[in-house]
Amino acid sequence: MKISRQKHDFDIESITVDSQNPGTHLLILGVVHGNEPCGLLAAEKIISECEKGERQLKNGKITFVPVCNPRAFARNVRETDENLNRVFYKEPRSNSYEAKIAPVLCSIIEKCDVVLDIHSYRAQTPPFVMNDYANNTTNAWVEALSLHNVIIGWTDLYPEGGGTLDYADECGQFGLCIECGQHTDETVVQTAYTMMDETIAFWKIGEKLTDEPKQRPLDIGLMVKLIHRPDETAQLIDGMHNFMPFDVGDVLYTSEKENFCAPFNGFIVMPKPGAAVGKEWFYLARKMRDI
Ligand SMILES: [Zn+2]
Repeated sequence: MKISRQKHDFDIESITVDSQNPGTHLLILGVVHGNEPCGLLAAEKIISECEKGERQLKNGKITFVPVCNPRAFARNVRETDENLNRVFYKEPRSNSYEAKIAPVLCSIIEKCDVVLDIHSYRAQTPPFVMNDYANNTTNAWVEALSLHNVIIGWTDLYPEGGGTLDYADECGQFGLCIECGQHTDETVVQTAYTMMDETIAFWKIGEKLTDEPKQRPLDIGLMVKLIHRPDETAQLIDGMHNFMPFDVGDVLYTSEKENFCAPFNGFIVMPKPGAAVGKEWFYLARKMRDI
């Protein structure tokens, strides 16, 4: 095994662990959002295992970019100018820091075959995976993970792309994005580590070192609608949380102008109670039949 470190523009560092045999080139991204350190911490653990010989790679290689957004990480904020996961373009579409670092990350993505993007969430949540470009291969990859909740259909809400997985798909690669739990939860790093470990095994790069039971059947949600916060008076109903189920007609937010009622039976995805007016506030998903 060969381990090499490379410095890129904007102080972005990549570490590649190479089995020196043919096989899949897996890219693992951490800290796309600066206040989500679980990907970094889990990546460090796996790199350290490789350095000590506790983990052997048999085929292919893994490239880690443990900190994709160095400035936001240094400030412990989600983003400095804008959400990196909405501006993932080879050609920057704005002058923001995030738009400028995206091309560096795009050129790293281009060299790999498969992308695993590791995140955490602001509130308590079970881990969940975004299978944005679902196909037989990504479905089988999801099947190999010891989690329960799967979200599909994200790309229909963002047809202009701009996420890590959009760029991976443009490059003809497979990708998954995993939300590993709450930022500061004590289990979040272990979950990130397990997801990486199970991904390494799925792609036959190395043996699994974890043995987590699978949680089945999978619960699959189809993202249907994005709600932006309409005005200052708009407030989410009390107790709204990720994966909260609702029935058609349930009030989901109130404001001076209207009470917004659920247009179908489904569940809430990723509510942001503190969202600014006009910004992404929460998503509505439909529950799919279990597979
Ligand atoms: Zn994130």
